[in-house]
Amino acid sequence: MSRYDALVIGAGYAGAVAARRLAEDGGKKVLVLERRPHVGGNAYDCPDKAGVLIHQYGPHIFHTNDRRVFDYLSRFTGWRRYQHRVIANLPRDNPEVIPVGKTTDGRFFFPVPFNLDSMKAAFGEKEGARLGQKLLDAYPAQSQVTILELRQNPDPEIAAIADYVYGHVFVHYTMKQWGQTPEEIDPATTARVPVRLSTDPRYFQDAYQGMPLEGYTPMFQRMLDHPDITVELGRDALERLELADGAVKLDGEPFTGPVIYTGQADELFSFRFGPLPYRTLDFGFETLERDCFQTHGTVNYTVDEPYTRITEFKHLTGQILPGITTIMKEYSRAYTGAEGEIPYYAIINPENNALYGKYKALAEQYPNLHLLGRLAEYKYYNMDAITAKALELTDRLLEKE
Ligand code: FAD
Ligand code: UDP
Repeated sequence: MSRYDALVIGAGYAGAVAARRLAEDGGKKVLVLERRPHVGGNAYDCPDKAGVLIHQYGPHIFHTNDRRVFDYLSRFTGWRRYQHRVIANLPRDNPEVIPVGKTTDGRFFFPVPFNLDSMKAAFGEKEGARLGQKLLDAYPAQSQVTILELRQNPDPEIAAIADYVYGHVFVHYTMKQWGQTPEEIDPATTARVPVRLSTDPRYFQDAYQGMPLEGYTPMFQRMLDHPDITVELGRDALERLELADGAVKLDGEPFTGPVIYTGQADELFSFRFGPLPYRTLDFGFETLERDCFQTHGTVNYTVDEPYTRITEFKHLTGQILPGITTIMKEYSRAYTGAEGEIPYYAIINPENNALYGKYKALAEQYPNLHLLGRLAEYKYYNMDAITAKALELTDRLLEKE
C-alpha cells in the first residue's frame, strides 16, 4: 500500500489546484510529481540574471469572468491591477494616412484587437470614423465580430475592411504562429482576438484581471504548501508509473487512489497511436540597459519579422528597476518531440481531435486515472479555464466519497 491517497502528475495550474483541493477538502495525503525543477508549469516566473522578473515560458496575464476561480486563486495571492494592452507594429503602407499611433522608421501602430481607433489609424480620421459607423450599423447588437465572420459580409466596403484587417492583423501573424492560414486553423483560435466595435483598447475585457502581486511562482508555492502535500521536483512520473489492464502501479505497487495526470496524453501511452501534433516556441530574451523598451506590455508584429510578438515584462509586473529591462521575442515552430522542446499549443482540428480521442478512450479504461490540463486534454485552455476544470474535477472526486 502506498503512503499516499492521491497522485498528481504535474505542478502547473491543473496539478496544483487539484492537489490542494484533495489535501485540504478531501483530507488526502497527496504526492505531486513534477518533471521540471520548479512548480507553476508554463506560468512559472523568476528573476533573470539582471533581477528582472520574467516569465520563462511566455507572457502570462491573468483574466477571468469566473468568480469562483478568482476567489480560489486569491487565497494564495494578492493582485496587482493590470489591464493588458497590445498594439500592432507594422510597416506603414499608406503614407496618406495619419495614424493614431506615432510613426517611426516607416512603421505604424494601432491597437489590437483591431477597434474603432485602429480603423482611424488605418484609414484616416474621417474615413476611419465613417467606416467605423458602418460597422456599428452592420452589427448593431454586437460588441465585437470575429475576422472570419467579418469576411463573410457581402457589403463591398465591409469586405474591404475585412480584407484590410485580415491582411494587416491576422494572416501573417497566424502563418507565423501556426504555419497555417486563419481559415485552416480552429475558428475559436482567431475568435480569441476579435474586431472590436468600440474603442476599448484592452486585450481582455474580463471582470477580473491582474498579475499575482509577487509573481506566479509564489502563488503556486503557497497553494502547494500544505502538510498533506508532498512535492517532488525533477521527477518524471512516467519512470515510476505503470499502466496495465485497467490498473495503475506506482513504484511497482498497485495505486488505487485518484491519479490526476496533467502531462501529454500520447506520452502517457508511449505514443501508441502516434504523436499528437503541437506547436512549440523559442523565446529570445534580451536584457537592455535602459528604463523601457516599448510603450506597451506586448507589441505584436503582425506583418513582418520572424517573431510574432515582443513582451516587455516590467509593464506586466510593475517592477521598478531603473536602467534595466528585459524583453522577449516569441518564435513559433512545429514541435518535433526533440529533447528539451516543450509542446505549448495543441493544434486543434478534427483529425488531431480524433487521434486524441483514442488516447482518451484508453485512459478511460483506468477508473482511477483522470486526464486534466492543457496537455492531457489537448485543449487551448487559459489559466482560468484550467483552474475551473481542476475545481470541477475535484468537486466530483470529493462528492463520490
Ligand atoms: P502546464 O502549465 O503545462 O503544466 C503541466 C506540468 O506537468 C508541467 O509543469 C510539466 O513539466 C508537468 N509534467 C508533464 N509530464 C510530466 C511527467 N511525466 N512527470 C512529471 N511532470 C510532468 N493563459 C492565460 O490565462 N493568460 C495568458 O496570458 C497566457 N499566456 C500564455 C502564453 C503562452 C506562450 C502559453 C504557451 C500559454 C499561455 N497561457 C495563458 C496558458 C497557460 O499557460 C495554461 O492555461 C496553463 O499553464 C495550463 O496549466 P496546466 O497545468 O494544464 O499545464
Ligand atoms: N492573432 C493574430 N494577430 C494578432 C493576434 C492574434 O493573427 O495580432 C491570431 C493568431 O492566430 C493567434 C490567435 O489570434 O494564434 C490567438 O491570439 P492570442 O493572443 O490569444 O494567442 P496566445 O496568447 O494564446 O498565443
